[in-house]
Amino acid sequence: MKNTGSCLCKQVTFEVSTFQGPIGHCHCKMCQKFHGAAFSTFVEVNKIDLNWLSGQELLKEYCADNDTVRTFCSCCGSSLLFESKYNRRTGSVEIALATFDSIETLHADAHIYTESKVDWFEINDDLPQYSQYRR
Ligand SMILES: [Zn+2]
Ligand SMILES: [Zn+2]
Repeated sequence: MKNTGSCLCKQVTFEVSTFQGPIGHCHCKMCQKFHGAAFSTFVEVNKIDLNWLSGQELLKEYCADNDTVRTFCSCCGSSLLFESKYNRRTGSVEIALATFDSIETLHADAHIYTESKVDWFEINDDLPQYSQYRR
Protein backbone atom coordinates (compact mmCIF):
# COMPACT_ATOMS: atom_id res chain seq x y z
CA MET A 1 0.00 0.00 0.00
CA LYS A 2 1.22 3.45 -0.90
CA ASN A 3 1.27 6.16 1.73
CA THR A 4 0.18 9.30 -0.09
CA GLY A 5 -1.06 12.65 1.14
CA SER A 6 -2.07 16.10 -0.03
CA CYS A 7 -3.03 19.57 1.17
CA LEU A 8 -6.60 20.89 1.09
CA CYS A 9 -6.32 22.43 -2.41
CA LYS A 10 -4.62 19.22 -3.65
CA GLN A 11 -1.79 21.10 -5.36
CA VAL A 12 0.78 19.79 -2.90
CA THR A 13 1.01 16.01 -2.96
CA PHE A 14 3.58 13.66 -1.46
CA GLU A 15 4.33 10.06 -0.69
CA VAL A 16 6.18 8.35 2.14
CA SER A 17 7.88 4.97 1.86
CA THR A 18 8.57 4.25 5.54
CA PHE A 19 7.47 5.75 8.84
CA GLN A 20 9.73 6.11 11.89
CA GLY A 21 9.14 6.31 15.57
CA PRO A 22 6.17 6.96 17.79
CA ILE A 23 3.07 9.02 16.98
CA GLY A 24 1.87 11.46 19.62
CA HIS A 25 -1.15 13.71 19.90
CA CYS A 26 0.50 17.04 20.71
CA HIS A 27 -1.48 19.50 22.82
CA CYS A 28 1.13 22.30 22.80
CA LYS A 29 0.00 25.87 22.13
CA MET A 30 1.93 26.10 18.88
CA CYS A 31 0.30 22.99 17.40
CA GLN A 32 -3.10 24.33 18.45
CA LYS A 33 -2.42 27.57 16.58
CA PHE A 34 -0.82 25.88 13.57
CA HIS A 35 -3.73 23.47 13.07
CA GLY A 36 -6.55 25.60 14.46
CA ALA A 37 -7.51 22.52 16.45
CA ALA A 38 -7.35 21.04 19.94
CA PHE A 39 -4.18 19.07 19.17
CA SER A 40 -1.97 17.89 16.33
CA THR A 41 -0.94 14.39 15.37
CA PHE A 42 2.42 14.15 13.65
CA VAL A 43 4.28 11.11 12.41
CA GLU A 44 8.06 11.12 12.08
CA VAL A 45 9.74 10.13 8.81
CA ASN A 46 13.30 10.25 7.59
CA LYS A 47 13.60 13.05 5.04
CA ILE A 48 14.90 10.67 2.39
CA ASP A 49 11.67 8.65 2.73
CA LEU A 50 9.48 11.70 1.94
CA ASN A 51 8.99 12.34 -1.77
CA TRP A 52 7.16 15.42 -3.04
CA LEU A 53 4.98 14.52 -6.04
CA SER A 54 3.69 18.01 -6.87
CA GLY A 55 3.35 21.58 -5.61
CA GLN A 56 6.67 21.84 -3.79
CA GLU A 57 6.96 25.46 -5.01
CA LEU A 58 3.82 26.32 -2.98
CA LEU A 59 5.36 25.26 0.33
CA LYS A 60 6.02 28.08 2.77
CA GLU A 61 7.93 27.90 6.04
CA TYR A 62 7.22 29.60 9.33
CA CYS A 63 10.16 29.72 11.75
CA ALA A 64 9.09 30.15 15.37
CA ASP A 65 11.07 31.73 18.22
CA ASN A 66 12.07 28.33 19.59
CA ASP A 67 13.86 27.45 16.35
CA THR A 68 11.17 25.07 15.10
CA VAL A 69 10.03 25.28 11.48
CA ARG A 70 6.48 24.61 10.30
CA THR A 71 5.69 24.12 6.64
CA PHE A 72 2.30 24.84 5.10
CA CYS A 73 0.67 25.23 1.68
CA SER A 74 0.71 28.93 0.71
CA CYS A 75 -2.47 28.48 -1.35
CA CYS A 76 -4.85 26.71 1.05
CA GLY A 77 -2.99 27.02 4.38
CA SER A 78 -2.89 23.30 5.16
CA SER A 79 -0.51 22.47 8.00
CA LEU A 80 1.91 19.90 6.65
CA LEU A 81 5.32 19.61 8.34
CA PHE A 82 7.02 20.25 11.65
CA GLU A 83 10.78 20.30 12.15
CA SER A 84 12.68 20.75 15.42
CA LYS A 85 16.41 20.89 16.17
CA TYR A 86 16.17 17.18 16.93
CA ASN A 87 14.70 16.56 13.48
CA ARG A 88 17.45 18.60 11.78
CA ARG A 89 20.12 16.66 13.67
CA THR A 90 18.65 13.29 12.72
CA GLY A 91 17.58 14.14 9.16
CA SER A 92 13.93 13.58 9.97
CA VAL A 93 10.72 15.59 9.75
CA GLU A 94 7.23 15.27 11.23
CA ILE A 95 4.24 15.09 8.87
CA ALA A 96 0.69 15.99 9.92
CA LEU A 97 -0.95 12.57 9.92
CA ALA A 98 -4.40 13.82 8.90
CA THR A 99 -3.09 15.07 5.54
CA PHE A 100 -2.68 11.50 4.26
CA ASP A 101 -5.32 10.27 1.77
CA SER A 102 -4.08 6.70 1.76
CA ILE A 103 -1.97 5.22 4.51
CA GLU A 104 -1.00 1.96 6.13
CA THR A 105 -2.50 1.28 9.56
CA LEU A 106 -0.78 3.39 12.22
CA HIS A 107 -1.74 4.10 15.81
CA ALA A 108 -0.95 7.04 18.05
CA ASP A 109 0.65 5.95 21.30
CA ALA A 110 0.60 8.98 23.62
CA HIS A 111 -0.69 12.44 24.40
CA ILE A 112 2.11 14.96 24.84
CA TYR A 113 2.24 18.54 26.22
CA THR A 114 -1.05 17.96 28.02
CA GLU A 115 -0.12 20.87 30.38
CA SER A 116 -1.59 23.16 27.70
CA LYS A 117 -4.56 20.99 26.68
CA VAL A 118 -7.68 23.04 25.88
CA ASP A 119 -10.51 22.85 28.42
CA TRP A 120 -13.12 22.01 25.78
CA PHE A 121 -11.57 18.71 24.76
CA GLU A 122 -11.59 15.65 27.04
CA ILE A 123 -9.02 12.88 26.63
CA ASN A 124 -11.14 9.73 26.82
CA ASP A 125 -8.64 7.08 25.75
CA ASP A 126 -6.15 5.05 27.75
CA LEU A 127 -2.99 6.31 26.05
CA PRO A 128 -0.24 7.57 28.35
CA GLN A 129 -0.23 11.32 28.93
CA TYR A 130 2.89 13.45 29.32
CA SER A 131 2.70 17.02 30.59
CA GLN A 132 5.54 17.97 28.22
CA TYR A 133 7.55 15.89 25.79
CA ARG A 134 7.38 12.12 26.26
CA ARG A 135 9.98 10.69 28.62
ZN1 LIG B 1 -2.87 23.59 -0.77
ZN1 LIG C 1 2.94 20.51 19.51
